[in-house]
Amino acid sequence: MQITNVCPDQADVIICGGGGAGCVIATRLAEARPDLSVLLLEQGADNRNVDRLKRPLDSLFWLFQQNPYLRWLDCEPEQKLGGRQPRIPVGNILGGGTSINTLMYNTPAASDFDDWKQPGWAYADLEPLIRKSIHYSSPEKPGSSPHSDEGVFEVSQGGHVVSYGDAYAKACRLVLKDAEECDNITNYRTGHGCEFEPKLITRDGRRSNVADAYLHPTKAKNLIVVTGVTIDKVLLEGSTAVGVKVIGDGQPSTAFGKKERYIKDVKGNRMVVVTCGALGSPAVLERSGIGSPEILKKAGVAVNVDLPGVGHDLDDHQLICPMYRATEGAYEPFDEYARGVDSVKGPIDAEYDRTGRGIAASNGFDYGMKIRPTESEIDSMGREFKTYWKRIGAGKVDKPLCSNVILPYFYSYRPPPSGKYFCIGGFHNYPASRGSIHISSPDPFAPPIATTGFLTRPEDLPVHVWYYKKQREFSRRLPFYEGEEPDSHPRFDPKSPARLRSSDDPNRTDKPVEDDSIPYSPEDDKAIEDYVRENVATAYHSIGTCAMKKREVGGVVDAKLSVHGVKRLKVADLSICPSNVGTNTTSVVLLIAENASQIFLKELDDGQRRARSRESKL
Ligand SMILES: Cc1cc2nc3c(=O)[nH]c(=O)nc-3n(C[C@H](O)[C@H](O)[C@H](O)COP(=O)(O)OP(=O)(O)OC[C@H]3O[C@@H](n4cnc5c(N)ncnc54)[C@H](O)[C@@H]3O)c2cc1C
Repeated sequence: MQITNVCPDQADVIICGGGGAGCVIATRLAEARPDLSVLLLEQGADNRNVDRLKRPLDSLFWLFQQNPYLRWLDCEPEQKLGGRQPRIPVGNILGGGTSINTLMYNTPAASDFDDWKQPGWAYADLEPLIRKSIHYSSPEKPGSSPHSDEGVFEVSQGGHVVSYGDAYAKACRLVLKDAEECDNITNYRTGHGCEFEPKLITRDGRRSNVADAYLHPTKAKNLIVVTGVTIDKVLLEGSTAVGVKVIGDGQPSTAFGKKERYIKDVKGNRMVVVTCGALGSPAVLERSGIGSPEILKKAGVAVNVDLPGVGHDLDDHQLICPMYRATEGAYEPFDEYARGVDSVKGPIDAEYDRTGRGIAASNGFDYGMKIRPTESEIDSMGREFKTYWKRIGAGKVDKPLCSNVILPYFYSYRPPPSGKYFCIGGFHNYPASRGSIHISSPDPFAPPIATTGFLTRPEDLPVHVWYYKKQREFSRRLPFYEGEEPDSHPRFDPKSPARLRSSDDPNRTDKPVEDDSIPYSPEDDKAIEDYVRENVATAYHSIGTCAMKKREVGGVVDAKLSVHGVKRLKVADLSICPSNVGTNTTSVVLLIAENASQIFLKELDDGQRRARSRESKL
């Protein structure tokens, strides 16, 4: 494998986008077919020597610190959010999102895949690929999940586990009596449970990412990786993909240190695979003239293939992160570290450099919950939600309506103020609302027009109100809870029994929720709704913009990931998900990429066999 900034003239297989999916597919294809030349093209830089990205704890600070490897997509103002413009971060470096994400490991519901109803994509088809992709070294009981230590992408406890596991388990039991307490909840079948979660961190305390796990260790000689190169468009001859047009942006490559600027056509002899992510792949298709004629015309691009589903149905998880004050000294000094307190940071950094352990080798995400509503809670969430949930989640006990994780620090777009904090980062797994992302011009560097669509459907807001109350009941049962951090909670009337609490009067309890729960009036509920509109944000899990469905129902690719109406062109990343998955998405992109690799290899083999038999007949 060679990493360069000089783009060759041709390759048998071109993979466009070296992110979560692209690095996996490029490696698998190159290793399985040494006779084929494989070219991986990535817009961002080579990740090998970017040490800052390898330290797990640093990923907590990128919401408020500069990170040149993370780009922000500014979405359109959303009417339902009071005109607020959500922002979505995107990884822009080899490894994509996996090189900059917050390292939480989580798994979807098995039924999520079955619900896709696509041949070859049911959970039973994908389960063997969990073992192929993930090297799991967390202390769980054998047989409690489909993981093994056979894969290459490490999932482990990392270099540190936080100290409050027992207190967490007790609080969960008091709030979610019927929740399953499992060895860990990353088992594809627990939809209502709480417990330990491992992390996207290696056993020696470094970030797990697809470039380091798959690409860099490969011995495949037939793989060329070009960084600092932007895919402008796929080149079509009639309805066949024959290559790509690229623009080298002059970023230095670690291998050559050369700055070169070029525009060139690269010939793809057998297959072109677009893996630019849910926020990048639609743009490549649209610039190639594949998409909705109306949108293409508006952007000044000639229509080659009328495919209206491209860029539609942008789906995400909707996140809220209420913050709480914590007792000083309750657990490890994450906040002090983030504030850069020398006496704290120095020893932690030194320990990490020496041993790869300590809190710098952790993101602090060790415990989380998956929650389903009870029948009476469903009734209280309104007719629209009830009908919706009956269709997508009722009876599917592996599907959590919301998931969360407890973060033992101040996680925000602003730096931590003085004091000690914890935060409950939780998201709605199956929102009904959808957004879109489209190009505005043929220029590959022009920003796209994106809408999140958050809260545009009436089914979604009641879920947030229900979930907000749940997580607050949980928080006040933690022994280190000292009241709410007012800027990240609803503005309840100070005279309401639901009012925010201070450290002088934290309203802490250790009773079960049936015996002691905060009463909320309709005005309090309204305050929660306002809070959600003002704060709901991306959970960084964009999917669905090139969905694997029939063209007539808005689909872009078929079950073999072929773009409808185009030969030799594939899309293989999170954009292909036809419906949502109840999890953080790294586990899903790994499965998509592993399955895509098998599909593509079979097609490449079949193609070769057909060519040989044609030759022998001549
Ligand atoms: C801030 C953040 C935090 C996250 N936290 C977690 C977490 O804790 N746990 C978890 O499981 N998941 C998390 N995720 C999600 C996870 O990382 C992504 O879902 C996953 O990386 C998506 O993989 P992908 O291949 O679909 O897209 P990406 O990983 O985004 O890959 C797309 C690649 O294509 C490149 N590209 C785009 N356009 C072009 C172009 N025109 N030319 C060339 N290259 C191009 C991009 O630079 C990128 O490298 C997080 C994501 C983000 C952004």
